[in-house]
Amino acid sequence: MSSNRDDDCIFCAIVDGDIPARIVRETDHTVAFLDANPLAPGHTLVVPRDHHERVADLPEAVSETLFSEVTQLVPRAEAAVDADGLNVGINDGSAAGQEVPHVHVHVVPRFDGDGGAPIHAVAGERPDLSEAELDDIADAIERGGR
Ligand SMILES: [Zn+2]
Repeated sequence: MSSNRDDDCIFCAIVDGDIPARIVRETDHTVAFLDANPLAPGHTLVVPRDHHERVADLPEAVSETLFSEVTQLVPRAEAAVDADGLNVGINDGSAAGQEVPHVHVHVVPRFDGDGGAPIHAVAGERPDLSEAELDDIADAIERGGR
């Protein structure tokens, strides 16, 4: 049972076993399972057990375990479906395409010539930023906000 469950959340229901899923790995903080609507064979999601909507909401121990589990899963998923590479990504926030408001890392096996695109294809039109704007943005990120 997750200690921080949202009763309307499909991933909380999977974590608690209320909705069946093909679970492939579990830790104290995370559960990994096959995506029910896979983009490729071996498409796996890694989620924290507790309901956290955004990446910035994750406690440090959960975040560390989450990426550690991604590191464990990547070679397993790649080998399981004999893939040539993988994309690893998080849609963080509705503007980024997040559909389930429970942090989930996509591990998507890729194959030579599969017709897919790199992570660079996810954003819209590329911005034309001046050196001053780049300096301002770098400073703001370093400070932790505007
Ligand atoms: Zn949830």
